[in-house]
Order: sequence, then C-alpha cells, then structure tokens
Amino acid sequence: MLERIRIVLIGTSHPGNIGGVARAMHNMGLADLALVAPRCDVITQDSISRASGADHLLHQATLHASIEEAIADCTLAVGASARSRTLPWPMLSPRELAARLPQECKPDNARVALVFGREDSGLTNTELQRCHAHVHIPTNADFSSLNLAAAVQVLAYECRMAWLGQIEPPTVTDEQDERATHEELERYFEHLERTLVAIEFHDPDQPRQLMARLRRLYLRARPEKMEMNILRGILSATEKAALPRQR
Ligand code: SAH
Repeated sequence: MLERIRIVLIGTSHPGNIGGVARAMHNMGLADLALVAPRCDVITQDSISRASGADHLLHQATLHASIEEAIADCTLAVGASARSRTLPWPMLSPRELAARLPQECKPDNARVALVFGREDSGLTNTELQRCHAHVHIPTNADFSSLNLAAAVQVLAYECRMAWLGQIEPPTVTDEQDERATHEELERYFEHLERTLVAIEFHDPDQPRQLMARLRRLYLRARPEKMEMNILRGILSATEKAALPRQR
C-alpha cells in the first residue's frame, strides 16, 4: 500500500523543507516523491542535512513542470490545504483519508497523490480543483498553517497507521499463554473463598459482596492458565501457613 502513495510538492522554495519531507517520508515508509516546478535547488547542503540520511529520496525524486504531469497516472489525488476555499470541495480529515487508503490502494494500477502547496501561498484554486478531495489537518483556527514538512509528516503518519491496521494482529496463542477456562476460574474462586474463610478475612454470613468484587477484579484481568496456577499456588501456601492458627 505505502509504495502506491506519492507525495507531490508544488513550487517549494526552501531546500531544507524538501529535505525535511524526505525524512518524514522515509520515517513512515513512503518513497515516491514528485516535485513540481521547485523554486529552489533540490540537492543542497540544507536539504541533505534536513533529510538526515533519507537523501536517497531526494536523488530519486521525479521533476515535473505541472501538477497535471505529476499526477497523470494517479487514480486518486488529494490536495492538502490549510485554508478553506471559496468553492466547497469534498473535505476529508487526515484520518478519514487514511481510512480510505487500504481500499483505494488495492488495484495494481492504484496510485494515490497527496499534493502539498507552496510555503508562502499554498495551492492555487486551479491546483486544488485538479484534486478529487481536499484534506485539512485540524489546527488552531488562528494559526492554521503547518510547516510543509510537518504537514507531510502528519499525513504520512496517518498513512502508516492505516497500513499497520491492515496487518493481521498475531493470534493470541502466538504471544501469550492460553487463557484460563471458565471451569478453571470457578475452581480458583472456590479455592479463594475457602482460603479467605480459613484466614478469617471473609465471613460467609456477612459477605459484603466480597466474592463478587473479587470475581470482577480477576475476570477483568483475563488470567492465563499459567497465572491461574501461580495464584492457586499462593492460595495453597496461604492455607498451609494458616493451619497452625486453626488448630
Ligand atoms: N501559507 C499557505 C500555507 C503554506 S504551508 C497558505 O495559507 O495556504 C505549505 C503547505 O503545507 C500547504 O500548501 C499545505 O499543502 C500544507 N499544509 C500546511 N498546513 C496545513 C493544514 N493545516 N492542513 C493541511 N495541509 C496543510
């Protein structure tokens, strides 16, 4: 999925920002960077230093004269915008966008472009109208414009989270012991009650809902078989230690 997502930067004017974008992308596992008419050099000391080791993305980046050229093969284009525009357009939150990605990216020919604007003036209306939808990162209404690389970071992170969400979670038995069964829990509760009576902590004639509260506690923890054995071992040792008192 991630290899089908392209970050498109339009008219960027600071090499440092392009480097910062490369770093944000590589951190999140994105690699396809397209630059449309950059207003600065791409490979500079600044961009390489801000890329902090992700400068291969700068060397691989494709250069284009227009947004049309950069997104020509894209099946979905989403423009990132800090401001709402005069003509309302389908608006997505970063998370709504991410939720659509697994499905959008399924076909072999799928390519999704996330389009970012100039540091000083963002995307033009014409550029925004080339996009299927717009995405706005929710911000302080009085201070809504993020640094370009920071905006890419937020969307790239959401892409990664959506991608991670697709991976099958490991089955329970892979990473933990089997859960105790109902019957094992019931045996434990009987043992627990017996022990609590023996040590005179619990008086069945004045139960004060003690056993119900303890049940709730243990059931919330969803104990594993092995943990159940430890707990029963503790009860047996407690019973043994309490024996002299009972005599
Ligand atoms: N001053 C410009 C914003 C430039 S920030 C303006 O007012 O439009 C550079 C780019 O980062 C923007 O074009 C946009 O693509 C992205 N960006 C910045 N803040 C954003 C936000 N809150 N939501 C979505 N994209 C944002």
